[in-house]
Amino acid sequence: MEKQGVRFVKLPDNAEPTWKKIIVESNVPELLEPLRVISRNLWWSWNDDARKLFEEIDPEIWEQTAHNPIQLLEETSLERFSELEADMSFILRMKEVEARLSQYLNERKELLGPKVAYFSMEYGLHTSLKIYSGGLGILAGDYLKEASDSKVEMVAVGLLYRFGYFKQTISANGEQVAHYEAEHFTHIPVQPVMDENGNWVTITIEMPGRTVLAQVWSVNVGSVKLFLLDTDLEANQEQDRFITHHLYGGDNENRLKQEMVLGLGGIRALEKMGISAEIYHINEGHAAFIGLERMWNLQQKANLTFAEAKEAIRASNLFTTHTPVPAGHDAFHDDLFRAYMEKFTDRLGISWDEFEMLGKTNPHEDHFNMSFLAANLSERINGVSRLHGRVSQELLVELYKGFLPEELENVGYVTNGVHYPTWAAPEWRKIHEKFLKEELPEDIHDYDEASEARAWKNIYKVEDGVIWNTKSTLRARLIEYIKERFTDTHIQRNENPKFIAEALSKLNPNALTIGFARRFATYKRAHLIFRNLDRLDKIVNNPERPVQFIFAGKAHPADKAGQDLIKYIMEISKRPEFVGKILFIQNYDMNLAKIMVQGCDVWMNTPTRPLEASGTSGEKGVMNGTLHFSVLDGWWVEGYKKDAGWALNEERSFDIQDLQDELDAESIYSTLENEIIPAYYYRNEKGVPVLWVDFIKNTFAEVAPYFTTRRMMRDYFDRFYIKQAERSKGIVAEDYRHARDMAQWKAKVSGVWSDIEVVNVQLADGITNSYKMGQDYPSKVVLDLKGLTPEEVGVEMIVVTSDEPVEFVQKQEFTPVKTENGMTHYQLDLNLKQSGTFNYGLRVYPKNENLAHRQDFRYLRWI
Ligand SMILES: *Cc1c(COP(=O)(O)O)cnc(C)c1O
Repeated sequence: MEKQGVRFVKLPDNAEPTWKKIIVESNVPELLEPLRVISRNLWWSWNDDARKLFEEIDPEIWEQTAHNPIQLLEETSLERFSELEADMSFILRMKEVEARLSQYLNERKELLGPKVAYFSMEYGLHTSLKIYSGGLGILAGDYLKEASDSKVEMVAVGLLYRFGYFKQTISANGEQVAHYEAEHFTHIPVQPVMDENGNWVTITIEMPGRTVLAQVWSVNVGSVKLFLLDTDLEANQEQDRFITHHLYGGDNENRLKQEMVLGLGGIRALEKMGISAEIYHINEGHAAFIGLERMWNLQQKANLTFAEAKEAIRASNLFTTHTPVPAGHDAFHDDLFRAYMEKFTDRLGISWDEFEMLGKTNPHEDHFNMSFLAANLSERINGVSRLHGRVSQELLVELYKGFLPEELENVGYVTNGVHYPTWAAPEWRKIHEKFLKEELPEDIHDYDEASEARAWKNIYKVEDGVIWNTKSTLRARLIEYIKERFTDTHIQRNENPKFIAEALSKLNPNALTIGFARRFATYKRAHLIFRNLDRLDKIVNNPERPVQFIFAGKAHPADKAGQDLIKYIMEISKRPEFVGKILFIQNYDMNLAKIMVQGCDVWMNTPTRPLEASGTSGEKGVMNGTLHFSVLDGWWVEGYKKDAGWALNEERSFDIQDLQDELDAESIYSTLENEIIPAYYYRNEKGVPVLWVDFIKNTFAEVAPYFTTRRMMRDYFDRFYIKQAERSKGIVAEDYRHARDMAQWKAKVSGVWSDIEVVNVQLADGITNSYKMGQDYPSKVVLDLKGLTPEEVGVEMIVVTSDEPVEFVQKQEFTPVKTENGMTHYQLDLNLKQSGTFNYGLRVYPKNENLAHRQDFRYLRWI
């Protein structure tokens, strides 16, 4: 493509080229200048009119650049710009979009708090900004967009990757090939952040024997600023320039360096720009280093000890964990970790032994665990669905020895959601807008779930035919898109043209279309549907009721098993009976995801429970009337409603995975054959599949309202942000008085804790083994508190099930009744409220009404 304003000089044939750098600004005419402004705020990406505007400039370049308006404006010819300048209708629409953006931003100049700083390794905001790999990133991206829409005061920090995550092609024999393309930062919506003297804002991070420099970029996500750090600078050594080259690339050492840049550098960057927040939200353990940096800062600024600073910063840290298995937590070997982080012991004024225990459950472990660090430095922790909250308690209980998982008051959950304007098709949004828009407040502080749910119920007023036509339009668009993708010369497909022609001719815009697209991690079990190929053959090739499956997804470059799965699906898709019935679309990205979740009739998800912490692609489907069919794992445990999708059995029946897979495959086939396919193909006299339409309406009415980022944002406010900001304010008030007091008190208690003596225990007057349910049995414990007061030491009795798994049954608190000769007497009318055989235990624990919760000071003494 010829660039405007550059002259090409013909070189003599044998001349060695010498290149000099010039930067050629695109020639957007003044009248069209608003286009440039709009292109620099990702707000355009969830605004249909803005999107349409760009597409109209040049649909071909729009597709070629993967919907990148900045590149589009650069590549548009002067002739085309002149035409647009003369196109009054275009100019008017452009002005309207510009006005809307500016009004949107104006309304967000003053926001209600608490102000949140959000830290994440990846953000999925738009296909053109390749700083995401999968679910975690998309979630973070959706969350920022929601923060902007909901008028939340938020800043976010991440890394700017030169190569980002890879582009996927599949070789002729089905191997995944990863392509890394260097990003031109002038082509993406990032801008250098300048200080008041016009200098680029940079920060430094000390690494062994050197200092690494990072510069700060910013991205406008509506009213939210996302700051991205970049170490690919000439001033850095080659190995350090590499730090921000790849998302999840390189070795463990590079990962550690990335996390140092994100966590330590992220806080430094905010400091340097004079930005502070009331809540610091750690999205996954990768960002846990922010806690260390915040402590060090505070120790210098307010002259606090390590323990005091810890009290102060913990109160405002929230840690979101996305991991359902211990191996999923990021951890660094001692030697590596010490080489990079040793300096922190001096900075924080603690010994190495103390320091490393921030990331371990016992000193003998040889890895420093970032999730443990995040948990230790955060007042609250949350999993990303109800089930995952529970799983997180089980994973983290290691840190709180003596407690049962369900006792962890500090570990809660917020179920992930999706940003509705990003994922819902414009056609659905037009229909929904009629009833949603007027009834719902924009501001998250005025939002309530009940009125949102009520609004969505209006979907039942929409005619069946309208619902069905909308779905059919979107399915046809998906099929059209797939055809383009397969024939597009820009996208390499190393496949036999005859196979492609046959596959495309068999694709059917009216057939029941089932989507399965996600990261190819083996736990997601993409292979399940292929366990019985004869049966699958019969399902997809039934001439009256055809079914087609669309697969897509990337496997991590280091995940051989995941790549083999892709290869296997490629092989299946080439068998004569499956050509055009089972398709694999390469290079799953946000754009493909959007078209798939909108166009499929059913979204299938078959993870091994409970390994899908939440999952979000099914939620995106739900926003588009795409019916969900999944194992009851992650969000679907909460989302599934009868006649609004299908659930595979919840309980695990087999320990042997292969048997479990067999059973699950069986129920997938029978649900397809007996429920899904008949519902889809049953038509009324007008040719409308009324049963199916009912399912779609139920999905909108009963499921969709609960899985938006709006609901998710509201939950973060209600369950975490507001309470933490409140408590944190108290902790830091009066020059950190409460932080100092609390640290002092904890030191006092831990000083004498192991000396506390149990002088006497009398349970229920000596009766053993025969208690009557509901009856009171006076019991007594006498302690020598070694100078602590009865207000500072609690005694409780806890009752649990006697069989594995041990489950909490009840808890009763002893009351201190008197202190005599230094002995404190505690009393309890023991009253068992359930019959059965149980185990009980007595525990002594430190008490202080200013503690955030029991795990804030996790001492326990069992007697
Ligand atoms: C939504 C999305 C994901 C996450 O999907 P899951 O169902 O959570 O696995 C991954 N990649 C892309 C491109 C997405 O849009």
